[in-house]
Amino acid sequence: MAALHGQQNAFYIPSSVEQEMSKHMFLSLPQEACGVMLGETAAGGIRISRFQPIRNVAPDPLHHFTLDDAEWIRCVFSEPKLIGIFHSHPQTRPVPSLEDLQALPAFAGLLQMYLIGSPDLTSGSRSHMHLNGYLIESSKESQDPAQHVVPSYNLLPVPLCVT
Ligand SMILES: [Zn+2]
Repeated sequence: MAALHGQQNAFYIPSSVEQEMSKHMFLSLPQEACGVMLGETAAGGIRISRFQPIRNVAPDPLHHFTLDDAEWIRCVFSEPKLIGIFHSHPQTRPVPSLEDLQALPAFAGLLQMYLIGSPDLTSGSRSHMHLNGYLIESSKESQDPAQHVVPSYNLLPVPLCVT
């Protein structure tokens, strides 16, 4: 499988799904938008098949996102499988904030993929989204003094292939 070398962690996203995410993000402005991706892991990467918007119930939705509990739980047991989380940065670049990283342990064990979108205000069309994809990597190496293994999570940038 030499052709796949270096592509093991690519995310594949149908352009129709990418457009749904973009639309949800723009309709939610100026608030942060959030949702989940459903799909499957396959040879060569992760394939997204659906985007499910979830209500942002954060007290300050201009700068934070909190997934609505009931909608989130419904997705945890859905088919196709819950595979990733999406949220937007209306004012900043689509890279993980310190707060994003600190919130990872709350749900990262269930997910493999982390997507962040931002409106592209330079493109002139006001409807284009910058989308960055990250693989959620867990490292179980950090240990607390009582020798319990504490899971910790990192976000590794991976290429997104819109198909
Ligand atoms: Zn964020």
